[in-house]
Amino acid sequence: MDAKNKYWLKDFSLENIRNRQEIRLVELMRKVLPTRADFCGCRLCVEDVYALSLNSMPAQYAQAGSLVLRTAMPTETDMVDILHQAMDKVSAVPNHPKSTAKTGS
Ligand SMILES: [Zn+2]
Repeated sequence: MDAKNKYWLKDFSLENIRNRQEIRLVELMRKVLPTRADFCGCRLCVEDVYALSLNSMPAQYAQAGSLVLRTAMPTETDMVDILHQAMDKVSAVPNHPKSTAKTGS
């Protein structure tokens, strides 16, 4: 069974039910990551920050195209704060030797 089929139920796949914060976070990371020269930015560190940030936000799963209830949505300011905290944590304890980091520190 491949990764896609893990979401298979009856005769359809549930893989398109996504946490709405995922896309918001990716869009925000495109803007914020380049402003942090101290952040490594390798795939491993970016993945860590992505997962850490999502775990710090209320998940909001929805079908594509369905209405989103605004009440539970963190604001962009909240998300930027969460993102910076995640980058601080990953920078302090990266999942790889610090010598391989872009900054070389
Ligand atoms: Zn890294």
